[in-house]
Amino acid sequence: MSLRHTFARATSRLAGLLPDAVLPRAARAPDPAADPNATTAMEKLDAALNNMSHGLCMFGPDDRLMLWNDRYVRMYKIAPGRLRVGSTLEEMLDARKEAGTAYRDLGQYDSKLTNAITKRSPDSLVAELDDGRIVNVSYRPTHNGCWVSTHEDITERAQNEARIAHLAFHDQLTGLPNRVAFNEHIAAAVHNAAGDTAFAVLCVDLDQFKEVNDVYGHSTGDRFLVEVGRRLLAASDGAFLARLGADEFIVIASVGPQPAMAEDLCTRLVAVLYQPVCVDGYEIEGSLTIGASVYPLDGADVDTLVGNAEAALYRAKADQRGSIRFFEPAMGRQIREKRALQHDIGAALARRELQLHFQPQSLAGGEIFGFEALLRWRHPERGVVSPAIFIPLAEETGAIGEIDEWVLREACREAASWPRPLSIAVNLSPVDFRRSDVAAMILSVLLETGLDPQRLEIEITEGVLFEDFDRALSILRRIKNLGVRVAMDDFGTGYSSLSYLQAFPFDKIKIDQSFTARIGSSFEAAAIIHAILGLGRALALPVIAEGVETEEQRAFLAQEGCEAQGYLIGRPEPIARYRHLVDGMAAPPESAVIAS
Ligand code: C2E
Ligand code: MG
Ligand code: MG
Repeated sequence: MSLRHTFARATSRLAGLLPDAVLPRAARAPDPAADPNATTAMEKLDAALNNMSHGLCMFGPDDRLMLWNDRYVRMYKIAPGRLRVGSTLEEMLDARKEAGTAYRDLGQYDSKLTNAITKRSPDSLVAELDDGRIVNVSYRPTHNGCWVSTHEDITERAQNEARIAHLAFHDQLTGLPNRVAFNEHIAAAVHNAAGDTAFAVLCVDLDQFKEVNDVYGHSTGDRFLVEVGRRLLAASDGAFLARLGADEFIVIASVGPQPAMAEDLCTRLVAVLYQPVCVDGYEIEGSLTIGASVYPLDGADVDTLVGNAEAALYRAKADQRGSIRFFEPAMGRQIREKRALQHDIGAALARRELQLHFQPQSLAGGEIFGFEALLRWRHPERGVVSPAIFIPLAEETGAIGEIDEWVLREACREAASWPRPLSIAVNLSPVDFRRSDVAAMILSVLLETGLDPQRLEIEITEGVLFEDFDRALSILRRIKNLGVRVAMDDFGTGYSSLSYLQAFPFDKIKIDQSFTARIGSSFEAAAIIHAILGLGRALALPVIAEGVETEEQRAFLAQEGCEAQGYLIGRPEPIARYRHLVDGMAAPPESAVIAS
């Protein structure tokens, strides 16, 4: 029905009622025959109202319909002729019910609506219709006792907002709740937990996800993660599951008898990867490690509770991949100690607590040809801390970059000062290779110290190539182009030593000391060493065995033509201890060092 039609029929009721803003003065008492301007005014009004993007209705002081526009009729799909001037609100709602566009849950808006209408107070509401659309309806009183409702279809906007809200609270890859959602959920769980109710937080870590990415590529890695998320969700049985990072999930186990309930859940979660995941034609194996803490026993606030679940995870990972650990107070101490050490290692360089020791390396014939520089930390309270402990800590904090640069500079400066041109081996961490300028750093140290690049050997473990293969490879090539040699340390302990030997022209293989230690006792260890030496000969690569402690080991290696490094040849010591070797003089009488 057109506005003009409605308008003409409602003329008598309208007079004096319409607000100025809606109805031009000229249209107040329309008599089209007498006043041609009135027709124009009505046409204008008709055009204005029917071209509105909003639906509009106007009601008289008796709450009966006075006028409406086409948009309103179309929006609510009301049958033609179903509305009339004087319709009651109930009749209008009936018309919408027939059209399937009534408010889905009228009850919840009822009092708001009644209040707005009876008290003539402006109000608005967002409601869902029976057909699933969302409308925004505003009620505005006019000064003459009438009231106007405007109706906007905001379905698309609401959907977009819902999508954005979903994005803000969900991980895009797996669709699981994200960290923001987890933070809200755990805060609410702690807030709502009363007295003796207990729930648990489980930090779930996907082991070796990096390897999956490296071996199968990132898109397969993504699909693997999606499947792991799906399986975890299915196994979590209503518990809240979120994905916090690449391979980190977290679960808030529901209130119940703890830790028994959480233990059951942990067992079910770990079991989801007992069956390999099939993606892109691959059967990928994986495992999950879990650390758990229980509220309120292990923490009555969010930070303590989550921190302690993380501490338990840290412990579980150190114990064994695929294991489950619940928090114990001792773990908190360990974490605090670790943090204290991490703090201290950051300051160790500046406090001059770091020192270099040098361990001699000998040819198969026994002649010393060089040294490996090994770092020592003299902690003011703890005494000497092993690099096996503090290097991983410095790698975690990033302090390793500065430390390794210092080691390289000191080792090169020291070696450059020796009368004999012995070689010097320096260890670099995989973390150093994340800095793109590691080759440039080596070059600047060589220039600064004047050491002949041929005398420097960089020792890396396969972890360097593991992290970002292409990038590491190009850095290693640049290092080799400087004339510096590159050795593969701890050979045989990783997964891919052989394939890495193929990918990069290493200059030396260092057999891990675990093989050397078993030379006399294990036929397999001797066979492996034999095989590595055969490989070295085939690739024309010198091989050195670490950890040589006995004459038997030395003799076995010597007969295979293998170089040696170990306590038998000489312990890592301050260079003063080996002055005779670097100066080319006879060993001091008290020296226990077996020199050439
Ligand atoms: P690595 O490079 O494999 O060094 C060999 C380790 O074996 C050294 O342990 C050395 O003291 C030890 N060792 C040498 N001969 C024997 C022996 O006959 N028997 C036994 N049981 N052990 C022997 P250390 O000095 O504790 O260093 C441990 C690891 O810490 C090193 O392993 C290396 O990976 C790392 N590291 C040491 N210094 C540095 C450094 O300056 N930078 C970096 N990034 N890592 C370093
Ligand atoms: Mg080494
Ligand atoms: Mg080693």
